[in-house]
Amino acid sequence: MSDNRSMESSQEDAIPVASPMPGAQAGEAGIPRRVFLGAGLAGTLLVAVGSRFLSHDQATVEATSDYALILDLNKCVGCRACEQACTERNQLPEGQSFIHILPKGDPDSRWFLPIQCQHCQDAPCVKVCPAQATYRHPTGVILVDETACVGCKYCVVACPYDARIYEEHAGVAYKCWLCLDRVLGGGAPACVDACVTGTRIFGRRSDPAIARLLESGRVQALHPELGTKPGVLAYIFPGA
Ligand code: SF4
Ligand code: SF4
Ligand code: SF4
Repeated sequence: MSDNRSMESSQEDAIPVASPMPGAQAGEAGIPRRVFLGAGLAGTLLVAVGSRFLSHDQATVEATSDYALILDLNKCVGCRACEQACTERNQLPEGQSFIHILPKGDPDSRWFLPIQCQHCQDAPCVKVCPAQATYRHPTGVILVDETACVGCKYCVVACPYDARIYEEHAGVAYKCWLCLDRVLGGGAPACVDACVTGTRIFGRRSDPAIARLLESGRVQALHPELGTKPGVLAYIFPGA
């Protein structure tokens, strides 16, 4: 497996995924799936891969993360291809993305810090959501059930990584969902596929290449002092 592509077909073939944006495309090449587009779910796309359908109440019971998205900041050139890919993938308005790229350092030693949902293991957004609309998928990915979101924006305030986007028209606070439909089908998130520099290294934590990298001492959480325990995102900072 190359270092910036997902590693293998998953065992979560039966786990459904709610798409984060009305009308966002779900499932791409080769993903076996059933698509539920009910009249009562106008504008909402629910995807079940396989035959079993779990409610998100059932999906909150496990807290381990299966995946890692490691950003090697030594390679990021700030081209924003990932940001744009996310905009397109999620049909966000032009100029909005679940990724934001922060320029860092001096003009002479510029580097770039892409930020998106860290899929925290101890996620403040999950804790403050009064409607359980933000929840943990069994893979450890934090998802938003847009049909349950009441638009209170508590999660927007609670997220220390500024990773939520509140969509006024829908009244929903969206966020990165790790392109989970693609991932469960054995693919990679759109932002990973869009990055041609090799900054974005994605795969299962159990994959030997990913496991070696995670244990190398080069990989760090972003702002671990915040105590949210990022569960998917991790960074190799410049010089590491
Ligand atoms: S596409 Fe890759 S190199 Fe470009 S900004 Fe995103 S992470 Fe950095
Ligand atoms: S980064 Fe923010 S939105 Fe993502 S899980 Fe953590 S607190 Fe929630
Ligand atoms: S994983 Fe998908 S939803 Fe998340 S930032 Fe990348 S493209 Fe956007």
